[in-house]
Amino acid sequence: MAPAEEQALFADAGLVRLPEGAHGGLMVAGVPLAAIADRFGTPTFVYNLDVVVARYHALDQAFGDLPHRICYAVKANGSLAVMQALAREGAGADLVSGGELARALAAGVPPARLVMSGVGKTAPELRDAVRAGVGFIHVESIEEIEALGAIAAEGERPVAVGIRVNPDVTADTHPAIATGHAGIKFGVPADQVLDAARRIGAHPSLRLASLGVHLGSQLLDLAPYREGVQRLLDVLHAIRRAGMGDDLVALDLGGGFGIRYGNESPLDPAALAAAVVPLVRPTGLTLYVEPGRFLVGPAGILLARVVHRKHAGGKDFTILDAGMNDLARPSLYGAYHHIVSDREHGPLARTDVVGPVCETGDLLGRDRMLPRLGPGALVAILGAGAYGFSMASNYNSRPRPAEVVVAGGRMGLAHPRETVQDLFRGESPAPLAPTPEDV
Ligand SMILES: *Cc1c(COP(=O)(O)O)cnc(C)c1O
Repeated sequence: MAPAEEQALFADAGLVRLPEGAHGGLMVAGVPLAAIADRFGTPTFVYNLDVVVARYHALDQAFGDLPHRICYAVKANGSLAVMQALAREGAGADLVSGGELARALAAGVPPARLVMSGVGKTAPELRDAVRAGVGFIHVESIEEIEALGAIAAEGERPVAVGIRVNPDVTADTHPAIATGHAGIKFGVPADQVLDAARRIGAHPSLRLASLGVHLGSQLLDLAPYREGVQRLLDVLHAIRRAGMGDDLVALDLGGGFGIRYGNESPLDPAALAAAVVPLVRPTGLTLYVEPGRFLVGPAGILLARVVHRKHAGGKDFTILDAGMNDLARPSLYGAYHHIVSDREHGPLARTDVVGPVCETGDLLGRDRMLPRLGPGALVAILGAGAYGFSMASNYNSRPRPAEVVVAGGRMGLAHPRETVQDLFRGESPAPLAPTPEDV
């Protein structure tokens, strides 16, 4: 990677490299990575809250005086500490499950600022959302309107409903994270939206408050957003022409704003706003956006130590104590995450950076140029703030990493490392053995 590209990644993460010497190495938000690793061990996710908050404000300011709300997509990183930092700045949250609802409430996000989506919300999840008083519940099918209506009728207040429209927009991203084209499970197809609006309007316990889309994830182009807004406007006008939509307050453009992992040009909030704001303003509605990755991705680092290096089949392998169970994106999507050594000693050599998991696919970085790192050497895997811990698993019975937050020169443990005992808490080794009631 070119030095200027690495410089841009460091700036995104709030990382600084101090010159080699007794106190050399990498610092994030004024805290040495080595100090974090010494105190909390490895592998550990480190989230720079200064960066999270700065990114929130950059996006917030881009939309200027257009009425808008930024609802953080919790699935990117459900850390209570991250959510609370965002909620303090005024962010809402975008939820896709009852578990995320509970998390957002525990973090203190005001319920009115919550938006719930999801293609398979169960009745208990819908009931919890209604009882909590979430801002909007986005329905993704005609069938769901009936289910939600029945639950809404149990309460006194009408429930604010959004329709997640499938905009049939093709976005240039990894097929696994493209969500806006026709023929996939997400959203109400455009030709059913009027019917959906009619059913919501006719239901005494529901009111149609929002129209939304979500176009995909890690989108670097403005084109899908232009198209997405246009689809929302088409639907809005059709609904208004049909004499409906008097209760509408919001247009929700979803998330997906792309970030820099390597040499890509990230989506620019100012350019996004310039494309979208003039289209939304005449509607008189509030613009909602649901970024996850954009707010937290660059703010996160996965800290790991080298277990050892080995040579095999003419290749050099640097084996870390972090693997695909901790950070799934490289093995799941072939995603690139930049990996840097804490210390800069000696010449660089080509190496595959791998984890300890018993899968050939447990590769974190192929053909990387790194110093020859011995056991215990510290490395930082960048861009790990989104879809890192939230996708981590216990595969190979590996406890999930600790989560640490840093800001303004301070560090704090947001979530202790799982213990091995956590892995089988509640399990029964012989559940078929006769119990006292059986005999
Ligand atoms: C995943 C998701 C988001 C956030 O996507 P990012 O790429 O992390 O910004 C927003 N809205 C909905 C409905 C989602 O499912």
